[in-house]
Order: sequence, then structure tokens, then C-alpha cells
Amino acid sequence: RIVLHKSITENCQNECSFLIVGGGISGVSCVETINFLAPGEKIIILTESSLIKSVTNLVQLGKYAQRFDVKEIVAENFAKPNIHVITDELKSINSKEKIAKTAKGLIIKYGLACICTGARPKIIHNKNVEEFVIGIRDTDSVKEFQKRIKTSKKFVLIGNGGIASEIIYEIQNIQIEWLIKDNHMSSTFIDPGASKFFESRLRNKDYTKTNQSVVKRMRYMEERKTSEEVRKGAALGPDWHRLIDMSGNLNSNPENIKIHYGVEVKTITRVEEEEFLICVELMNGEKILCDFVVSATGVEPYKTFNFEDYVDFKCSDDGGIIVDAFMRSSVDSIYAAGDVCTAGWEHSKFWHQMRLWTQARQMGMMAGKSMIADYNKEEIYQDFCFELFSHVTKLYGYQVVLLGRYNGQGLNDDYELLFRITPDKEYIKFVLKNGRLVGALLIGETGLEETCENLILNQIDLTPYGDDILNPNIDIEDYFD
Ligand code: FAD
Repeated sequence: RIVLHKSITENCQNECSFLIVGGGISGVSCVETINFLAPGEKIIILTESSLIKSVTNLVQLGKYAQRFDVKEIVAENFAKPNIHVITDELKSINSKEKIAKTAKGLIIKYGLACICTGARPKIIHNKNVEEFVIGIRDTDSVKEFQKRIKTSKKFVLIGNGGIASEIIYEIQNIQIEWLIKDNHMSSTFIDPGASKFFESRLRNKDYTKTNQSVVKRMRYMEERKTSEEVRKGAALGPDWHRLIDMSGNLNSNPENIKIHYGVEVKTITRVEEEEFLICVELMNGEKILCDFVVSATGVEPYKTFNFEDYVDFKCSDDGGIIVDAFMRSSVDSIYAAGDVCTAGWEHSKFWHQMRLWTQARQMGMMAGKSMIADYNKEEIYQDFCFELFSHVTKLYGYQVVLLGRYNGQGLNDDYELLFRITPDKEYIKFVLKNGRLVGALLIGETGLEETCENLILNQIDLTPYGDDILNPNIDIEDYFD
């Protein structure tokens, strides 16, 4: 239990009850929650970036699934009489004295602190070519990317997650060679079937206009995987590409995109070719020449500060600060939320961690609630949003809703998939275990979000309904009302 002396907030400008480090979505959500629950309590938000992120236009698609936009605010405009914004970098913490020091030499005394410093792209580094390999992360990196596509003929894109998928769909008038280590596109979010559904959109070819729904059931044998298997601003978020011109100077042509499936990069080197400066060599020996490389191969938690008092965070293998269900780290009075942390509690059956906006917001809010409970010496419970994984995003122009174990995560060989596919309109996948819904992938405006959430959480036996559960002529929302 933390005992805070209210007087500390009165004596010094840099003393506060709550210190939040990071102006990304998790930090800002944490500050907003604290300010809502304890209005007037002194909060300091310490952030390297002069712009901070805030959630806007929140649309509730179900009880769990939410769609929202993110707006950028000049950090100073976020200040209130009790919310002090400091644009500086956290350098060190003395957790016993509860003192934080910044790069500019500022000393901040806090009662409780929350680390929300995000993550950085894992960029494939090769000596001598660093300036030709870029990651997409914040506004500055996007500006750099924009500059390069205007002056280049071809780039190589490495990665198969959300960012690579957005780039491949949004960029025009430049040649792209896309290197994917899996055998289908966008594997972080979708299965091979959905990838085919999107391919026509990507290639801009209408492979059918019939809009006839197809319902298919199949037993799915999950492939067991083998064991082998820097910047200043906050991470960009949904729709980051909408506000900027993402076109190069070549003619638009679907053939500008070449996808290499099942490949891995061996080296990236400089070459003295007349046309191109960089050569990407693949493990299979193939060589690809290009002007530059975009490395979109995931992120790693980011924390550059250290402790003065010889403690340290307990961290996971991926470098994330391990937190419990209340977002408490292993260091006294320090919480963590968002991309920088690793969810160290026992997860509910239908939830798993992914470093996404949705979870940055949920964790930031949970940290805020927990810090206030600590402050008031109250007991709280973990928020219900951690019961069910839900994420809403846009891929290739479609709304994509992911619920529970949407890719059969952790189910081994033992599940069934039921599909309803209406080309160019919707792609619905139900993941069933023992006749019960455990996950869903909903592409397009399906309106099934809340029904699926309920079916997953209630674990109703759907065996009696057979394939009719996805029959387009039956309104399953009505069915389970
Ligand atoms: P961040 O947003 O990274 O914020 C970290 C903050 O900490 C920053 O303000 C930074 O300046 C500050 N900071 C760092 N170190 C220090 C320090 N030592 N001292 C002071 N301040 C510090 N997710 C989705 O859900 N949907 C998407 O469509 C999506 N698209 C994305 C597209 C791109 C290009 C990228 C890069 C990410 C995308 N993500 C998306 C992921 C999403 O952006 C992150 O999960 C989310 O932003 C994490 O929020 P955060 O607050 O934890 O960290």
C-alpha cells in the first residue's frame, strides 16, 4: 500500500502524486482515467514527444469490440491546472526515494509512477546500409518514407503484419517487392482463406461480381510450429496513411507489386549497380535490387532509462516489463502499460496480448484505475475487457474484427472452422471447439460482433444448429437474442 502525503503536491512544481511517462495512447489513457477518478490530483506527464495521442470518435461495435480514431494534440494543450506536461526524456529512477530524473536535469518526485514508453520497430540491421533500411513508426519516419518513395523506383518491404499490409495496399506508383516468411499475406491477423479474399482487392481484379454467399465447414488441423519458428514520437495508429500522399512517381500498375512467399532475408548489402544501390539477398539465394528497404518486422518494448538504486524490472524474454493483472510491475510503486509491458497474469481463456492500440488504451485505463485504488487503499477487480480479445482494424479497405482465438491460437489440432464468404463483400470465420464458438474473424460490415462476443463468452453449444449458424438467410442475431 502506498501512503501519499498530499502536501508533496503543494511544495514543488515537480512533485506529483502520479507520474506518467509517455504521451502515447497508453500514457494518455492512464492520465485521463486518473483525472476522471481523482479530479484535481496532481499528475505529471513526462514525454519525449511534443505531440501526444488521444482517442476520438469511439464507436462501440459490441460490448468489447470498439473502433476509434486517434488524434494528435500538441502536448502543452493537454495541460490542465492539475496536469503538468513536461517534454523531456526520462533518464533514471530512484525507486526508493521515488525520484525520476530527466535528460535536461529535471528532478521529479512522485507518489506512484506508470511507464508507458511504448516499443520500437525491430529493424533488420546490416552494417553500411543502415541509412537505406527504414522502419515505419512515427510521424518523422513516415515523412522520411514519403521522401524516399518520391525519389525511388523500387523498394523491398519485409514483414507480414498490419503495417506491411497497410503499406502494400496504400502505396502507389512505385515498384514493391514484398518479402513474406509465411505462405500467405497478413498472417498476423488473417488465415490463408481471408488472404485470398483480399488478394483480388490488392491486385485490383474483380474475380467475381456474383456476391453469392458460400458456407463451408472444415476440420482444421493446425500446423504445429517448430521452436525455431529510434525515434522520439509516439507510434502511429489506425489510418496513419490517410493524411499523407503515399504515391511515388511511376505509373500506377498492379504489376508493380511482386510478392515472394515463404522467404527470409539473408543479407542486405550495397552494390554499385547503375540503377539501384541496395541488394537484398534471400536465404534461397535469390537477389533483389532496390533503392531502399522498409523493415516492418514487429516491435520490441522500449525503455532506455535505468534505476539508480540497483533494482530492475522483471522482464519477459521479449524485453517487456512484466505486469500483473493490475498493471503493477515488480518495482514498488511503479506500474507499466501499453507496448512496453508484457501481460504477466494468468490470461482468460479467450484473451491474449498483442501490441495494438486497443490494448494500449485498455491497459492505460486499467493502470489508471489501479493507481487510484492504491492511492485510496481500495480493492478493485480487473476490467472485463481482459476476458475477451477483441480488435477492430482496417485491412485492404475492409473493416476487420478479431475476437477470441480468431486464428485457432493455442487450440492445437482440435477445432473446426465454419466460413461464410461473399466475394468482395464479407468473409466470416467461426472457430469452434467442441461445438462452441471460441473465436471469430469478421471481415466487412457483418453486424455480428456482439452476437459473436456473447456466443464466445456464454459457450452455448452450437452443434444443434449445424451449418445453419452461418446461413445468410437466417438472422443469427435474432436467434440468440
Ligand atoms: P507509444 O504510442 O509508442 O508511445 C510511447 C510514448 O513514450 C511516446 O510519447 C514517446 O515519446 C514516449 N517515450 C518513450 N521513451 C521515453 C522516455 N524515456 N522519456 C519520456 N518519454 C518517452 N495498432 C492498432 O491497434 N491498429 C493499427 O492500425 C496500428 N497501426 C500501426 C501503424 C504503425 C505505423 C505503427 C508504428 C503502429 C501501429 N499500431 C497499430 C500499434 C500501435 O500504434 C501501438 O500498439 C500503440 O501506439 C502503443 O501505444 P503506447 O502508448 O504503448 O506507446
